[in-house]
Amino acid sequence: MKIRAQVSMVLNLDKCIGCHTCSVTCKNVWTNREGMEYVWFNNVETKPGVGYPKDWENQDRWNGGWKRKKNGKLEPRIGGRFRVLAKIFANPDLPEIDDYYEPFTFTYEHLQTAPESPTMPTARPVSLVSGEIMEKVNWGPNWEEILGGEFSKRSQDYNFRDIEKEIYGQFEQTFMFYLPRLCEHCLNPTCVAACPSGSIYKREEDGIVLVDQEKCRGWRMCVSGCPYKKIYFNWQSGKAEKCTFCYPRIEAGQPTVCSETCVGRIRYLGVILYDADRIEEAASTPDEKDLYEAQLGVFLDPNDPEVIREAREQGIPDAWLEAAQNSPIYKMAIEWKVAFPLHPEYRTLPMVWYVPPLSPIQGAAEDGHIGFDGEIPDARNLRIPMQYLANLLTAGDEEPVLSAIRRMFAMRIYMRDKHVHGRLNNRIA
Ligand code: SF4
Ligand code: SF4
Repeated sequence: MKIRAQVSMVLNLDKCIGCHTCSVTCKNVWTNREGMEYVWFNNVETKPGVGYPKDWENQDRWNGGWKRKKNGKLEPRIGGRFRVLAKIFANPDLPEIDDYYEPFTFTYEHLQTAPESPTMPTARPVSLVSGEIMEKVNWGPNWEEILGGEFSKRSQDYNFRDIEKEIYGQFEQTFMFYLPRLCEHCLNPTCVAACPSGSIYKREEDGIVLVDQEKCRGWRMCVSGCPYKKIYFNWQSGKAEKCTFCYPRIEAGQPTVCSETCVGRIRYLGVILYDADRIEEAASTPDEKDLYEAQLGVFLDPNDPEVIREAREQGIPDAWLEAAQNSPIYKMAIEWKVAFPLHPEYRTLPMVWYVPPLSPIQGAAEDGHIGFDGEIPDARNLRIPMQYLANLLTAGDEEPVLSAIRRMFAMRIYMRDKHVHGRLNNRIA
């Protein structure tokens, strides 16, 4: 058993209000410079929706770097001793600037200089690339939440899966929630495997995935290789850059910028222990439906004395072991099973976990799903289809998501009873 410690994050989607504060503060700290205008290490996209970059979940479009063998294992699409050269000269799967959106500002001076008129002057969007007024901003990572009429058309455009087409086609059934996204600091990172220069590495001590700027030669294999499209090309420096999990802050014992500034307080940080020897087997599990459970098998109980003894022997510092024991990550993801990885079928073992959203709360209350009588509602009747959440979080397996939602409902009923109504009796407890 090769024990490693990993810093990771759980995001409670039920609490995200889509304010984008996390994205803006991250941008101010990390990507507020030339060459990185289009880059959001952290972005918050509306789901269902095309996301950022556009259509990133469509792996048929982006999987040029990798292919899956019949036994479930991943291997480079171009094999043999020419692999590196062939990939360098044939990297067809890069998103273009239009897939990210064109960076723009506004004609703010127009607000001061416009001639007198019966209506208020408008600051129109101007391209930061061409300097021209942008007439055709017709998509964005949050476009779908305001464009109901376009839904069914867009579902055709972007190759959505059946469940999404079905939902998009029925306006009165539409729903949305926010999905904040950052690099997953995967246990099995394809960006590392795809880099011909060996410039991307996963830190031994905390699992943070970083790009060595001295070694990067700008091949961009990482961009096509990352299934989450969370590594970016800086056109000014000619190097790849990505979320650093705010490692200078983590080293100083501080939270990441996105966590510290999150308005909804949805982000939980912590350390989790895993067995690095089990990663290959978990990532290679042939049946997609078994992937979520298989990937959970990699993590170790931080309160198991045997695990602690071995971890100490392998040089993991006591401070990290203590952090793992007090961490919410093991509890929420493994013990309580209310937090899930994003798209485990990509097989990179992502380390940013998500608590699924219950539903639009008001709607759930009106439908009688949230009450104070101690009844656990039937989560299958909620507005957000279970299958949609399962496609996002458990490679299509509905049962784990259903069970997490029931748990969260039970907790909500319990807490309401206790705090809102000021009564706590043995009825639920
Ligand atoms: Fe690499 Fe992408 Fe995984 Fe981040 S999400 S570690 S960039 S493969
Ligand atoms: Fe959601 Fe928090 Fe980001 Fe606001 S700051 S969008 S609540 S994750």
